[in-house]
Amino acid sequence: MTEQPTDPAEIFDAQAALVPDRRVSFDFSARRDALLRLKQAIIAREGAIIEAIGADFGKHPVEVRLTEIVPIYQEIGDALRHLRRWMRPKRVMPGLTMFGTSGRIQPTPKGTSLIIAPWNFPFMLALGPLVSALAAGCSAVIKPSEMTPATSAVIADVIAEAFEPDLVAVVQGGPDVANALLEQPFDHIFFTGSPAVGKIVMAAAAKTLASVTLELGGKSPVVVGPEANVHKAAKWIAWGRFINAGQTCVAPDHVYVHESIHDALADALRARITKMYGTDPTQSPALAKIINPRHWARLTGLIADAEGKGATRAIGTSDEASRKISPTILLDTQPDMEISREEIFGPVLPLIKYSDLSDVIGQINDAPHPLALYVFGDAETADRVTNGTTSGSVGVNLTILPVIHPNLPFGGVGNSGMGAAHGKAGFDAFSHLRPVLQNRFIALPMIFPPYTSRVEKL
Ligand code: NAD
Repeated sequence: MTEQPTDPAEIFDAQAALVPDRRVSFDFSARRDALLRLKQAIIAREGAIIEAIGADFGKHPVEVRLTEIVPIYQEIGDALRHLRRWMRPKRVMPGLTMFGTSGRIQPTPKGTSLIIAPWNFPFMLALGPLVSALAAGCSAVIKPSEMTPATSAVIADVIAEAFEPDLVAVVQGGPDVANALLEQPFDHIFFTGSPAVGKIVMAAAAKTLASVTLELGGKSPVVVGPEANVHKAAKWIAWGRFINAGQTCVAPDHVYVHESIHDALADALRARITKMYGTDPTQSPALAKIINPRHWARLTGLIADAEGKGATRAIGTSDEASRKISPTILLDTQPDMEISREEIFGPVLPLIKYSDLSDVIGQINDAPHPLALYVFGDAETADRVTNGTTSGSVGVNLTILPVIHPNLPFGGVGNSGMGAAHGKAGFDAFSHLRPVLQNRFIALPMIFPPYTSRVEKL
């Protein structure tokens, strides 16, 4: 295992030194070997990864495999399957005006990259972008979240096992370390986290004009039309909201439900919660803990604020000692409540009654663009909501799955981010798509002065 340096400038300089010849030496087979080494190092530590994420926030081993480890294997498998094609220059047609040239788009590695990860899927969101960086031929420095120290330590072990630090390095620490890294002139910065810190990252990137991918958060709404199948909607919404104890960037944040099925949906959600987590979910090993006491207090504070202003709790309790909040459904929330303004990021779900879909579309458009948007109902409702709004992604009659699909780009828009991750989109994020145009027999005499009257007629 290679000893990891800790000084950001030293790490950057070592990785930057690789850049001049990386385009030659980090070829297809080197990239494939790097991806395979990463996979082997993860396989060898699966038990340690499950234990670490369990220690950091009590996530069930099956959920860790499903949401943190398997997606990385899929990302690696996808990259290995398609890498040759992704790397291959794409020929472009000349059209009439460029007849006599041959043009191609040649993906080239951006160079050095910095990956800053959040705590909520601490393994997947650190290593997923790394797969894309390696596939694209970039070096990477990973700064995992300081809020999940056990997971960050395992990530450092995986990386030290698989790579020399001049190709991939891990630097652990909080905002101060992130800011020290942001002072280095990386070629690309891939940040996953809150919109507030995304702005800091983008401002730092502006100093060196590094390109950025920003995977941010926000309040992702659900719309349930009157014709929706209430039980199926409840099943998908409850799963999407309560997996990882609601600490998921694409989780349904709040539900607009047509007044004719509001009570039926509340009943179906209650039944679904009991089916998934039992009668006392705080005792269920399937329900993750809230990441830390500060967030536990923030979430219980949001519930108290809403109840103090007239909302009612259809189901839900909390337990400070175990840092758990059981799946909570809130009814009659109002726009002036804190819970209606900030990203909830916990296992609490407000149901909001509506009678006119146009009002709901208006409310979605009055808020910052969400990362995800979900619609339950028939094609007409789905089309009206999809075509009338903007969001990072849309899920119809399901939740969460767009983020897992291997052939869909994943990313936000506006306040929820810029750029995209996963598969080919991730490869492109770390690549410069470089146009190369070669003259074979084009002459185009009219473009060179002295200009003649023939040009005026063009
Ligand atoms: P965060 O923005 O607080 O932290 C993310 C990373 O930035 C961490 O590594 C942290 O150390 C660093 N950081 C924090 N403050 C900083 C500062 N002042 N300067 C420089 N770096 C700083 O986010 P979080 O609390 O870890 O994660 C939750 C947020 O992330 C939510 O908003 C969620 O929606 C979002 N998120 C988005 C995605 C996505 O893919 N779009 C995925 C997961 C989480």
